[in-house]
Amino acid sequence: MTIAVTQDLSPTLVLNADFRPLSYYPLSLWSWQDAIKAVFLDRVTILAEYERAVRSPTYSMRLPSVVCLKTYVKPARHPAFTRFNVFLRDRFQCQYCGSPHELTFDHVVPRSKGGLTTWENVVAACSPCNLKKGGLMPKVAGMIPQQKPFQPTVHDLHNNGRLFPPNYLHESWLDYLYWDSELDPE
Ligand SMILES: [Zn+2]
Repeated sequence: MTIAVTQDLSPTLVLNADFRPLSYYPLSLWSWQDAIKAVFLDRVTILAEYERAVRSPTYSMRLPSVVCLKTYVKPARHPAFTRFNVFLRDRFQCQYCGSPHELTFDHVVPRSKGGLTTWENVVAACSPCNLKKGGLMPKVAGMIPQQKPFQPTVHDLHNNGRLFPPNYLHESWLDYLYWDSELDPE
């Protein structure tokens, strides 16, 4: 699993006005250009900076590594229905055999039988299980998902997300993320 962020891009972690990330999945990151724009528009406060600076003939500014919004934005209660989030809900494991390899999706009720592409009908499945089940109903195939698929809350994904931290985290972000710390009771 990779998150498309490299240190060269000097991304800025964006926190809500309560000092929590604006979103976890995906992690709320802006380009440093967008972050600096927001600083000049007085929309954010800089909490931490990179060593790297941008310079003009009259001005020098270190790139922000963490900013927080001045105005609180109400977070979405339910995470987006995305490939990554379905895998995260299912802990990157095939829901039929438990394999973490060759993951793809399976419609529990097959599309050919009217199954929808929704949280409640899509599970992570390895390619071999997906092929084996094909267009069969779960009982006919003898393949029942280990966990009944459901629409997760942000909290559900936080809990699973602790097991799968992103592969790039700048040290200045760690105070604001939960991967290295205890989860706050919610
Ligand atoms: Zn499998």
